[in-house]
Amino acid sequence: MSAEDAPHDLRPATRLVHLGRRRALAGGIVNPPVYRASTVLFESTAHQRQATRDRDQPDTLYYARRGTPTQWALAEAMTALEAPHAAGTFLYPSGAAAVAGALLALLAPGDELLMVDNAYEPTRALCDGVLRRMGIATRYYDPLIGGGIAELIGPATRAVFLESPGSLSFEVQDVPAIAAAARARGVPTLIDNTWATSLLFPALAHGVDVAITACTKYIVGHSDAMLGAVTANAAAWPRIRAAGHQLGQCASPDDAFLGSRGLRTLAVRLRAHGENGLAVARWLSEQPQVARVLHPALPSCPGHAHFVRDYGGASGLFAFEFAAGVDDPARTRFIDALRLFGIGFSWGGFESLALAVDPRPVRSVADWRARGPLVRLHIGLEDPADLIADLGAALAHVAP
Ligand SMILES: *Cc1c(COP(=O)(O)O)cnc(C)c1O
Repeated sequence: MSAEDAPHDLRPATRLVHLGRRRALAGGIVNPPVYRASTVLFESTAHQRQATRDRDQPDTLYYARRGTPTQWALAEAMTALEAPHAAGTFLYPSGAAAVAGALLALLAPGDELLMVDNAYEPTRALCDGVLRRMGIATRYYDPLIGGGIAELIGPATRAVFLESPGSLSFEVQDVPAIAAAARARGVPTLIDNTWATSLLFPALAHGVDVAITACTKYIVGHSDAMLGAVTANAAAWPRIRAAGHQLGQCASPDDAFLGSRGLRTLAVRLRAHGENGLAVARWLSEQPQVARVLHPALPSCPGHAHFVRDYGGASGLFAFEFAAGVDDPARTRFIDALRLFGIGFSWGGFESLALAVDPRPVRSVADWRARGPLVRLHIGLEDPADLIADLGAALAHVAP
C-alpha cells in the first residue's frame, strides 16, 4: 500500500504519518534521504534542454536551488495539509523570508497593503522599511475589524494580510469574513498561520489565498532549524513560485529533512502543547496577581468566539497580563525566578519559554491598553503540574 498522496478521507493525524514520504524513491526506506546538492548532471545536451523546458514541472531535477526530493517531500506534505485548496508550497530559509517572499510576489510600486495591526514585529518592519522604500504603502487595520475590512479596501489595495491569533496580544481574527470581503473585491488575502499551523487551522479552506508558516516553530518543533513555507491556491501559486525563484530563495536539505521529521509528530505534539497550555492558562487566570489571560481558548481573549467556531484546537503559546499595580521590576523578578522556563525568542519547541513583551511600540491603530505588564509563555512538553508549581513559586515574588 502507498498512502503518500494520503487521500482526504483519512484524518489529519493519519495523513501526517504518510504525506511526503516518497517511498518509491528511497527503495522502501521509511524516510526520504537528505540530498546535499548544487549541480545536477545531465546525461546529454538533449536531457539538459528537456530539464530546462520542464523545470517548473514536478519532480524535475534541474539545479538544486530549485530543490531535490528532500525539499519536494516537505513542500508536498505542506500542500497536502491544505488540500484540496492548495496548488503548491514554496520553502524559504526562515519564516521571515517566507513573509517577505509572499508579499514581494503579490505587490508592486503604487500598491497598498492592508496589514493587521498586531502583526509579528519583523513583518511590520518589512512594511515600514523595504516595502515603503519600494513605493508600497501599508495601512494598518484593527485585528477585530471582521467584514468591516471592506470599507478600507480602496482602488490601490492589492493585498490584505492577516495574522491570527496576533503576535503578543492573541486576538483571533474573523478570517472567513475578512477573506470573503477581500475576495468580493478581487483582492488576495495572506495569513501568517504559524500559531495554529494548517493542522489546527486549514487557512485556505477558510477562504484565504496564501498561508504562511514559520516552520521554525511547530513544524520543525525542536528548536534546531530555521525554515519557512508559503502555501498558495491556484490563483496565487504561479506568482509565489516565480518570485521565490527570482529572489533566489531555497531551503537547505538538512533543514527540510528536519521539517519533514517534525511533521510526523505534529499532531501528538500540538495536542500536548494545547492541553498543557490550557491547564497552565486556566490556573493563571485564578491567581490574584493576574488580571487577564490572553489565550484564544479562554473567553477573556478577544476573538474567542472566532477561535471556537474555526479552530481545531490551541497550540502552546499565549500571554497573560499582570494586575494593575504590578510594575516592570516585579515582572522581571517573576521571570528571573522561573526555573523551568527559558528566556528567549522564537517558540514551538519541546521546551517552555517566558518572555516580557509589550505591544505598545508596535501598534498604530488598535489602541493597546493593558492594566499591567505582559508576559508571553510558550508551554512545552513538560508535565504541566511541574510548570504550575514553578510559576506559583515565581509568583510569590510578585505582591498580589
Ligand atoms: C517566528 C515567527 C515568524 C518568523 O519565523 P522565523 O523562522 O523566526 O524567521 C513569522 N511569524 C510569526 C507569527 C512568528 O512567530
